Amino acid sequence: MVILVDMDDVLEQLVEAIVKYNNAHYGTDVSAYDVVEWNLARAFPTLTREMVYSPEYDEDFWSEVEPMPGADKVLRRLIDEGHDIYVVTASTYETLRQKMDDLLFRWFPFIDWKHVIVTSNKHMIKGDVLIDDGPHNLTGGSYRKILFDRPHNRSFDEKSVGAVRVHDWEEIYEQICIMSKNNE
Ligand SMILES: [Mg+2]
Repeated sequence: MVILVDMDDVLEQLVEAIVKYNNAHYGTDVSAYDVVEWNLARAFPTLTREMVYSPEYDEDFWSEVEPMPGADKVLRRLIDEGHDIYVVTASTYETLRQKMDDLLFRWFPFIDWKHVIVTSNKHMIKGDVLIDDGPHNLTGGSYRKILFDRPHNRSFDEKSVGAVRVHDWEEIYEQICIMSKNNE
């Protein structure tokens, strides 16, 4: 299968890293569990929107972002089993080089630039399945849908768009196996 995989908060723990950075730089006391809406800025009522997203523009930030547990192991397994993996990210162009070098290619060295698609319109991309934590990316699109559970998407009814909610990468693997079988 052609498997499309979101980067932020699926392959890596972006929200956790932003929260940690902002707490250290701006003296806030926010936990990643406080981020219960897609709009991250709502969890930081005392900061401007610019401040909230400032870590992404700090060159040293991307090496601080941790990979999602199990993601590399499961991706390697899926590649070994013959699936094609494409990372599909809405990353902004200003941050791309650092983000790719210090985060994606560092923790997932078996993924190369030819397997990265940068777009904010993921529903334009052709693939068998998309794994994403963003409800807007799973609304529409011709792919099957796996919603990666995060505090900011818990109020979203994934069944309304025909998506399956998973909580970790082992569950992703199980779902891919089921979908792959149905594909045969
Ligand atoms: Mg994401």
